[in-house]
Amino acid sequence: MLVIATANRDKLREIEELLAGAGIDLAPLNRWPQYESPAETGATLEENAIIKAHGAARHTGLPAMADDTGLEVDALDGRPGIMAARFAGERATYGDNRRKLLGLLAGVPEAGRTAVFRTVAALCFPDGECHTVEGKCPGRITSAERGNGGFGYDPVFLVPALGLTFAEMDDATKNAVSHRGAALVRLRAVIADLARAGRL
Ligand code: IMP
Repeated sequence: MLVIATANRDKLREIEELLAGAGIDLAPLNRWPQYESPAETGATLEENAIIKAHGAARHTGLPAMADDTGLEVDALDGRPGIMAARFAGERATYGDNRRKLLGLLAGVPEAGRTAVFRTVAALCFPDGECHTVEGKCPGRITSAERGNGGFGYDPVFLVPALGLTFAEMDDATKNAVSHRGAALVRLRAVIADLARAGRL
């Protein structure tokens, strides 16, 4: 059994799709309703992913995985980075964050709107043993929102090779090219190794 340590329903859906068939039963964190997720106080994606995964593993007594994702925009010197969720403030909605991003990039030409989505996924055991993997997806910030799918910054993140924003892709296409998809392909390999070693 592997606990999926996220309170974000959009991420949970993607993670469940990406780990389907990995040979391990998945348990969403809402099976432990009394659990309060720890504050994401880390300075890096890796630290935050471990904080989330290890917190859940300790609480449940089961191995747990979590991801932490950042959006690094070159014209903003890497911002919002790990602050992606709180870019427009502590209680910001996805829409607030997108509007702030498009506003800051107003007037920046297409060639200067490059960005990278980066995900670190951590798998931790209750005893503190942790394994981390990373996935990234380069792209470009659009000048207006496009598409109705996905979540977060998806309507403003264009994958140039496909000419589509993440919000214009179906789930399978996004998972095949996304930062989270790349990280979880690697996590599946870690899960297989741990299973072979009898640790999972
Ligand atoms: P965190 O990993 O929970 O800190 O998430 C950071 C923020 O990045 C989320 O609140 C979303 O706004 C955004 N985000 C994370 N993953 C994605 C994605 O796959 N597409 C678009 N936005 C995302």
